[in-house]
Amino acid sequence: MDKSLTGKIRSARSPKIPRVAGQSMGWAQELETDGHGNLISALTYFLVGSECRFSCSMCDLWKYTLDAKKTPVGSLTLQIENLHRRIARESPNRNPREWLKLYNASNFFDPANVDPSEHATIAQWCRGFERVIVENHAALLARQNIRDSVLRFRDLLDGELEIAMGLETIDPQGRKWLNKSMSLDQFAKAVEFLGTEAIHVRAFVLLQPLGTPLADSVDWAVRSSQWAAQCGANRICLIPTRTGNGFIQSVAKQVAWQPPTARQLEQAFEKLLQDRLGQSALETSEVIYTVDLWDWDSMLGKCSTCSEPRHERLKQMNYSQCFQSDVASHLCDCRAIQIK
Ligand code: SF4
Repeated sequence: MDKSLTGKIRSARSPKIPRVAGQSMGWAQELETDGHGNLISALTYFLVGSECRFSCSMCDLWKYTLDAKKTPVGSLTLQIENLHRRIARESPNRNPREWLKLYNASNFFDPANVDPSEHATIAQWCRGFERVIVENHAALLARQNIRDSVLRFRDLLDGELEIAMGLETIDPQGRKWLNKSMSLDQFAKAVEFLGTEAIHVRAFVLLQPLGTPLADSVDWAVRSSQWAAQCGANRICLIPTRTGNGFIQSVAKQVAWQPPTARQLEQAFEKLLQDRLGQSALETSEVIYTVDLWDWDSMLGKCSTCSEPRHERLKQMNYSQCFQSDVASHLCDCRAIQIK
């Protein structure tokens, strides 16, 4: 970890809104492809616990964490239990095939974030879900005690386990600014370990991180995603880098950074799906590429006329894993505008 960069990242933060142990940030539901032509209902639980030990330069998840150094034991189970009850009330007609993402804004297998003594009760509350997805930093998976903890949790589940890890970028210029505290080799080894243990891997890749030249950012997003796939990640999710953590705004001018546009997201996704057509079935059979649309509304480079059809097209491409033509391209000239 670069201490001077970490200091700058942390000092750019705004004051945290106090969070209460045992009270979640809510839930969301979306559809995801299982890669075999089926759409699965995926619930995401936004759990509140202690802060991540790392300080990645683009991360704003610290906003949703407690000040406490350790997540109080039992508080995550309580949140999961309460969210199950709330969903049963608010959304009684559920898809029989469901996945559950337990996102705690840090690392599921860091004992400071999730005490291992709580794994068994959490696993009990995950009964019936076909797959459980948690997030974890790849460098932690170099430690034997963490690997053991992962395997124990996998064995406690009655469904499959998937671990989501941020690769972010393989661009050397972008990596200088990431403060990720992880080498590419550590990421590759973590993916390999999980693959040999029949644990699915989801990799997060950033579109236009700090430090990556704007003109090259689509290319680096594609190359980073393909590298993650070559390492063995089953699902690669491309996320537009967002502002809002303080640090990015503070250095944006210095490094000539600006938020990625809707067109850049489309271009990267189009390239990933089109490139796959040229690869062998063996190389691509298990790989799913998706784009994160959670922040679509705030993305630049679209207007009220084109926003909805473009969002729908990307959503359908997420589902089908097939390139679809941009039938609404004649409606406006947003796609041609270069934002400076
Ligand atoms: S490892 Fe994840 S949660 Fe932790 S600072 Fe980095 S992006 Fe944020």
